[in-house]
Amino acid sequence: MVERTYRCSNCLDSTVARDFDVSHLSVTCEDCGEFARFVNDDVFEQYRAFEDSPPEHLDWDRLDRAEKFLVSDQVVREGRSIEDFEITEG
Ligand SMILES: [Zn+2]
Repeated sequence: MVERTYRCSNCLDSTVARDFDVSHLSVTCEDCGEFARFVNDDVFEQYRAFEDSPPEHLDWDRLDRAEKFLVSDQVVREGRSIEDFEITEG
């Protein structure tokens, strides 16, 4: 069984390993003390890639972190294209 790494979406520092593969889990972070969503590290890698080089057609910086993780999750785990996402104005 392959271990998956999950990263705290609050401090982005702490990681936990689990032997199952889901998009995220909720545990209390030992680093920041938050009962936080830990996101799959594959999703986090995609998130970081978008942070480094935001998708051109999206106003990436307007998304909050949870929304960014959601988009990253759909791209990595659901195989959706970033082109599928649009942010409505207003
Ligand atoms: Zn944390």
